[in-house]
Amino acid sequence: MKSSSNTIETKAYSESGDSLFLEDVNFTPQGKTISELEDFLMQNKEPKYRATQIFEGLYKHRYKSWDEFTNLPLNLRNKLKLVSEFQEMKVSHHLVSVDGTQKFSFEIEPGKEIEAVWIPSGDGDRKTICISSQVGCTLNCSFCATGTLKFQGNLKTWQILNQVLTVESLVGDKATNIVFMGMGEPMHNYKEVIRAAEILNHPKAFHLGAKRITISTAGVVPSILKFIEEKQPYNFAISLNQSNPNTRSEIMDINKKFPLNELILAAKKFVNELDRVITFEYVMIPDKNMSDENIAAMAMIASRVGKCKFNVIPLNTSFHGWRTPTQNEIDLFVLKLKSKTKVPIMNRRSPGKEIGGACGMLALERKEINK
Ligand code: SF4
Repeated sequence: MKSSSNTIETKAYSESGDSLFLEDVNFTPQGKTISELEDFLMQNKEPKYRATQIFEGLYKHRYKSWDEFTNLPLNLRNKLKLVSEFQEMKVSHHLVSVDGTQKFSFEIEPGKEIEAVWIPSGDGDRKTICISSQVGCTLNCSFCATGTLKFQGNLKTWQILNQVLTVESLVGDKATNIVFMGMGEPMHNYKEVIRAAEILNHPKAFHLGAKRITISTAGVVPSILKFIEEKQPYNFAISLNQSNPNTRSEIMDINKKFPLNELILAAKKFVNELDRVITFEYVMIPDKNMSDENIAAMAMIASRVGKCKFNVIPLNTSFHGWRTPTQNEIDLFVLKLKSKTKVPIMNRRSPGKEIGGACGMLALERKEINK
């Protein structure tokens, strides 16, 4: 870790007249791409190829200090120690559910916490980590605990990746899938989220594969259009949650800014231009979004968009006096929806509900409620 004496140490090093003095004294190697590491090394007159060695050390071998980079010459490691620091995030809480789901709270700094959830499938084949992209959230989705927190900033790429590294290390297993569905709106932290996804996908890093990384949005239309234009290869999900354009704003505040029709047009563009399936997440709330009219509107959306699927999931919170649907209500809703549309409908369970790790529940135990 970099110490407060770093400036003095670096100055002493510079005065020694060594031509390989590294100039960026605030450099954090974690969360950097190969090309960013190359730039840093070249600026400091080190060979570019070392970037790949550092990159692999960080994400494939998961080294936590320069001492572990035995693939680098000792003199370079010593210089890197002087001018850079390995960052850490402290795990402040860890809860384990009977279904195998585990929730981890990370302290970013005093008073700023985020959460990540380890979700193994029943058969153990699929191991998903749900990660956060922001501390709190500026959006105010009515069913979501995170939306009740104060927004306290975007996460940096290394803080996003560190959730994966730490969870995998503590669980003692590796994830097969990553979903950006934890705290925060990923599209409001676009650059860091996409860079994290790029590293998660990279063959010399986590090597997950783009199809195993899902990025979600509550409906930030301009960022969806950017995602399409950049031809980002990752799975994409939209938190729809209400198919009625006139009442969606009651659940999804963002609908006031980017109305449902614009969102559907963006989803259609995604499907047409990228030729890929888009996912609609739908939190089922009795007496709110489960009527026959809602089902008909969902079928209409599916026919407009084309290649899409619905992930329906029961409400897990009880804000505004809302309740979780009964199993009968869920079964009937899914049955009716299946009769109206041919697109796949996945009825997701709610893993980790009793530890506050299920959809919409992150941050439920926090005190800093803002509404
Ligand atoms: S559902 Fe997502 S976008 Fe909406 S308030 Fe919660 S964290 Fe933010």
